[in-house]
Amino acid sequence: MIPPTHPRYRSLLEREKIVEGAREGYVALQGLIAQGRGECFDYLIGEETQPFAQKAIEAAAAALLAARHPVISVNGNVAALAPGDVVRLAKAVPALIEVNLFYRTREREEKIAEILRRHGAEEVLGVGEDASCTIPELFSERRRVSCRGIYTADVVLVPLEDGDRTEALRKMGKTVIAIDLNPLSRTARAATITIVDNLTRALPRLVEAVENLKKDRNRIQDILAKYNNNAVLAEALLHIKTRLEKIAAEML
Ligand code: ATP
Ligand code: MG
Repeated sequence: MIPPTHPRYRSLLEREKIVEGAREGYVALQGLIAQGRGECFDYLIGEETQPFAQKAIEAAAAALLAARHPVISVNGNVAALAPGDVVRLAKAVPALIEVNLFYRTREREEKIAEILRRHGAEEVLGVGEDASCTIPELFSERRRVSCRGIYTADVVLVPLEDGDRTEALRKMGKTVIAIDLNPLSRTARAATITIVDNLTRALPRLVEAVENLKKDRNRIQDILAKYNNNAVLAEALLHIKTRLEKIAAEML
């Protein structure tokens, strides 16, 4: 048991969720490494949602609401960390939910779909035979997607995505929204909109942004027109630089 008074309680609790998911067999071992890398970048940004992330969250809400066919892609880590928020977001937009795994097994797909259904998802795409369409230029099992989901989507939200797949989805002409704590990853750089924040902080804020923007839809096009992803990534890097300089100065 982690005492709630521990200064890094939230982070340790999330780590436990990922470990538990690995024990239950739906989080890949590589997912443990991904979490560790994320924790490192979260330390650097200060473990809080920063203004550059909030800007991207608002653009993401706009893109999801403007979409003709929006899909949320879910892997093991996402299912372990934020299944309830995924379902809330899917209902708020509304968007479809699809399981998409780099290390695909029928058992892992079923387990993840079951977790999502337990959190209120009505339909979960991408399980078994449903993933019968193919993303060109990808060689992992991840190229298999649902013909009714990611394959035909115009906007795909990919929390914790791999760089190759983000690039392949962009080449198919899709708008890709990534949530990735590492502003330097290929995913972060290839996505149309990159939310540099922890998934567990970003998703509730994204639901809120969608709810607010739904009441004010005439702002959507303006938000999208003004959004500049490279500027947001640059802001994230400069935030880390300034923050580290400040901390170092305080030590001297
Ligand atoms: P890329 O393939 O995009 O170059 P990578 O190979 O460095 O990235 P992957 O293991 O493919 O990294 O993907 C994991 C990514 O997810 C990492 O960039 C990590 O920072 C990020 N990440 C992990 N956990 C979280 C989290 N809870 N919230 C947001 N991002 C996270
Ligand atoms: Mg990668």
